[in-house]
Amino acid sequence: MARIQESKLRKIVRYAYRNVSLYRKRFDEAHIKPESIRSLDDLAKVPFTVKTDLRDNYPLGLLAVPANRLYCLYASSGTTGKPIVVAYTRRDLDRWARLMGRTLDATGVRKGDIIQNMYGYGLFTGGLGIHYGARALGATVVPASSGNTKRQLMLMKDLQTTVVTCTPSYMVYLIEASKAEGYDAKTDLTLKIGIFGAEPWSEEARKRIQDAFGLRAYDIFGMSELYGPGVGIECEQQDGLHVWEDEFLTETINPSTGEVVEPGKEGELVFTMLSREAMPLLRYRSRDLSTLYEEECTCGRYHNRIKRIKGRSDDMLIIGGVNVFPSQVEHVLMNIRDLGDQYQIIVSHKELDRLGIKVEVPANRLNDVNLMKRIRDDLFAVLSIHVEVELVEWGTLPRSEVGKALRVVDLRPKE
Ligand SMILES: [Zn+2]
Repeated sequence: MARIQESKLRKIVRYAYRNVSLYRKRFDEAHIKPESIRSLDDLAKVPFTVKTDLRDNYPLGLLAVPANRLYCLYASSGTTGKPIVVAYTRRDLDRWARLMGRTLDATGVRKGDIIQNMYGYGLFTGGLGIHYGARALGATVVPASSGNTKRQLMLMKDLQTTVVTCTPSYMVYLIEASKAEGYDAKTDLTLKIGIFGAEPWSEEARKRIQDAFGLRAYDIFGMSELYGPGVGIECEQQDGLHVWEDEFLTETINPSTGEVVEPGKEGELVFTMLSREAMPLLRYRSRDLSTLYEEECTCGRYHNRIKRIKGRSDDMLIIGGVNVFPSQVEHVLMNIRDLGDQYQIIVSHKELDRLGIKVEVPANRLNDVNLMKRIRDDLFAVLSIHVEVELVEWGTLPRSEVGKALRVVDLRPKE
């Protein structure tokens, strides 16, 4: 693996330097010659690429090929300002499709499986990424796209879907939606495998989904800047995500200093794409926090694994000086029986920052002080801050029908 990576690294660094003015400028400023990057040990000399580089060069300033060689353009949804545009040549699309085929295969998806792909088709790379992977693998794909829950459930039953792909929050939503529509999720449906990603989720959410549908739920990782989904996936061991390191050379760094941290320690994931043609990315800072570790996996794959993404550094809430990840809150709530699957985090400021949680419960538990206390205590044990808990009736919080759940409402005045 190291030999493959080194030979690809030498090539891509020279290619990026020759063809992308940003890289030429960065290398020249740092007085680094591309030829001096020879081994994996030299990687740390390569300057980082960050998300704002993509924004600043909107739309196509980072292209390494003439625009008429592009087969596809994606634009990620930007919450602020311009989106990020990512470009693919034909070879890039073929490579992505093969990686996605490998990704699906790692969870046990095979030819003959019927994949109901509930990721949105369109500019979100999740939809077509899974679609291309299914084609590469020779499995059957149902391009259901996101939303229209009644139809999703009908298709699932009538077409005898065996594999589902969507955001974890949508699958959690389907637990209650399938009940409400009169389906028995285990006997009416034939689901074996679920592949969930595009937002952080917890072990407890996995348990709930697996128990409700009788399937095996796998975590998938990717981002549109790096082709889309399929950077990493859990194998059947469900113990960490293998990263396809023959394409995505992976490091973890200390997000404040930029220094590389050793395997086994948490840090920000940084990826170097080893063969991308249209838009090479060297040492791209993902802003996702995780841990890279090198222990062999019992499945036999030699690709290193990363732990579940703890959260995007952008998602981290700072509440009165304390760092809180929404995934930590989910972890606590999913461990308490009798709670619904829906919750909302509300951050406000009255003299001090305040953290509030709304959680859905059955109507007869709305005034259950013991339950409220249990939630407060469990959250305090994990977050070390006091949380105001409000119990609300089932069905009153907003659902994720289209994509990522809107779990956090920050009411603090913007400075
Ligand atoms: Zn494995």
